[in-house]
Amino acid sequence: MNQVRYQLSLLDPVSHYYQVRIEFTPWSSAPIELQLPAWIPGSYMIRDFARNLQRFKASDSKGALSWQQLDKQQWQVNHQGLPVRIEYLVYAFDLSVRANYFNDEVAVINPAACCLEVIGAAQLELELIAPSAYPDWRVATGLRRDANTAFASFGLYHADHYQHLIDCPLLCGNLCIESFMLDAVPHHVVVVGAYQPDMARFSQELQRICAAQRDVFGELPHDLSEYWFLTWAVDKGYGGLEHRNSTLLLCNRFDLPNPQAPSQQTDDYITLLGLCSHEYFHTWWVKRARPKALLNYRLNAEQYTDQLWLYEGFTSYFDDYALVRTGLISVEKYLQLLSETFSRVTRASSQMHQSLAASSLNAWTMYYKQDENAQNAVVNYYAKGSLVALCLDARLQQQGLSLTGFMQACWQAFGREELGSDWDTLAAILLEYSQNSALVQELWQWVHQIGVLPLEHAIETFGLSLSWRAALNQQDVSGNKTFVVEPRAFGAWYEFKTDGMAVSAVAEQSPAKQAGIMAGDLIIAVDGLRMTEQNWREVNQRKACDAAIELHLFRQQRLLTVTLQPAPAASTLAILTTNPAQAALLQRWLGIGA
Ligand SMILES: [Zn+2]
Repeated sequence: MNQVRYQLSLLDPVSHYYQVRIEFTPWSSAPIELQLPAWIPGSYMIRDFARNLQRFKASDSKGALSWQQLDKQQWQVNHQGLPVRIEYLVYAFDLSVRANYFNDEVAVINPAACCLEVIGAAQLELELIAPSAYPDWRVATGLRRDANTAFASFGLYHADHYQHLIDCPLLCGNLCIESFMLDAVPHHVVVVGAYQPDMARFSQELQRICAAQRDVFGELPHDLSEYWFLTWAVDKGYGGLEHRNSTLLLCNRFDLPNPQAPSQQTDDYITLLGLCSHEYFHTWWVKRARPKALLNYRLNAEQYTDQLWLYEGFTSYFDDYALVRTGLISVEKYLQLLSETFSRVTRASSQMHQSLAASSLNAWTMYYKQDENAQNAVVNYYAKGSLVALCLDARLQQQGLSLTGFMQACWQAFGREELGSDWDTLAAILLEYSQNSALVQELWQWVHQIGVLPLEHAIETFGLSLSWRAALNQQDVSGNKTFVVEPRAFGAWYEFKTDGMAVSAVAEQSPAKQAGIMAGDLIIAVDGLRMTEQNWREVNQRKACDAAIELHLFRQQRLLTVTLQPAPAASTLAILTTNPAQAALLQRWLGIGA
């Protein structure tokens, strides 16, 4: 057996260094090749983790071995058949769920970003050495514990192969841990860094969400023997990354529920529950059921798929849907969250220029590398993909079927055995399930062509009404508001600073674009008044809608004057309302009682 042992020491929280030692006996006389991934599965961007490796050394019992670095992420070590030891340091100070972070409060370890792959190795062991300065620290990970390693302890863990190792992040610190069982599978809820979290409530509510997601697919994956919610709370942060039997989540310190306010449901906590729901759904949908292109992926370069609308978009549909179906949020709150998605997708002109399939394929260089022109160029495959799921659910429910039924058909056809999906697979399953070839064609168009989705039609199926109102600005995405003076269109994304209005992006075909305003401009005066939030509001409300507004701005330190010709704001903000006469339709969709 080509066995490799990793030893990872939490060396120095002040300098943020891990020390990694890799030991193995060579299984061939050829030079040993080692490499580190350029990206981590689930996050489709080249990150070049090897840039944080330092002080590489190779030796055996006779002394130093010769080696060379082949490129930014590969090393080659010459050997004499004796047991080999590789040593290096890893700089761990990336405040994200994708790499490594180590300070006096927490150690986050992503093996993809610190454990070099020894090419040809099979059985892997990871020994995690406890930091002497923090005797109270514990360890949470989905890696398989050695028989001699106690639950949540430093010590020895096992992985079957390298892909397994890098799919198991480790979270260390003063951990709060609560556990529950679902279908005889233990689920561990771990939190570090939060201030006085109500762990019992968090765990109970996650249990309801997990049960709802299990019901979408009809069963837990057969190889799931435990699941870990690894929650890392910081001052400011947000993110989640899915793994086969765990998820690493980043949230804010006070997002978790307050034990003194058991009935309080903050928006931040709802967002966190939605994130947990999303990542848990991925346990089936992208970790097991996944695109054919991601069955065997290369880790040294991009892996392209045009199906992220399906795996991220449909997951986004089912994340908040689970919250309302379990009663964790009200119908009103759910409709508000859904209407925000409607507004965002409708407002971005990108859907008239890029298809969902193209957005997925270009995720590496477009969605993950958004610049000031993204609203005009890049379709959000999470948001628009979730609305494709909504439209498909509506079409299926009109036939007495449901999207959940389709998900179960997919799970049975290619998910549970991990056979991979492509368009032909999906089309065949949808045709067999719905017996509706027009629907298959319609789905193809929603995904592969540009344009708007039939949202009004979908919403009627669920007993809802959709209306639109003018938006006050680009940040205004939900809620009923009445205006004394109808809002004016401006068409720029901006933020007020002490010295004026900083423009971060400009929508195409907008008054801002017509006036010649560009991203990066600092607008310092509006109609002869200093540009402040109040002056901007008053000018817009007091001036006749067809009267021009003079703006003074700095662009790259040059003072310029432009003329803005306002227009009535278009109705791009969605409002979803329940229709009492259609309550049965809503109840059927959301699976809730009257
Ligand atoms: Zn996701």
